[in-house]
Amino acid sequence: MSIESSDDKPVRDQVACDVCGSMIGRLQGYQLTTLQVVRSPRFWRDYYERHKGEFVAMGIASYDDLRRSPKQAEVAQTIAGDETPWRVCEQCIELFDVDRERAEIQFFVKGPQC
Ligand SMILES: [Zn+2]
Repeated sequence: MSIESSDDKPVRDQVACDVCGSMIGRLQGYQLTTLQVVRSPRFWRDYYERHKGEFVAMGIASYDDLRRSPKQAEVAQTIAGDETPWRVCEQCIELFDVDRERAEIQFFVKGPQC
């Protein structure tokens, strides 16, 4: 399915998932606020696994250690300070406790694109 843009601005057909980096169609996937992201425990578990090498180097040897560490708040603050919404693919939406229907991208593409 291809959707033509009515204006002259170039439109990227795909964007990268902010969690795993896989490409998703512009009209696919989900959009989450950074607050929804940092409030999801499963996201943190996944985040730990993805950055395990860095955390272990900091002396944070497990996900439980991360939860007890001030580092989590620090990372959460960095993530929440990023004002751009998260684009999340079909697989990664499982990590978040959100209402999938409300997070569906269709709700957002109706508005003006920045
Ligand atoms: Zn993903």
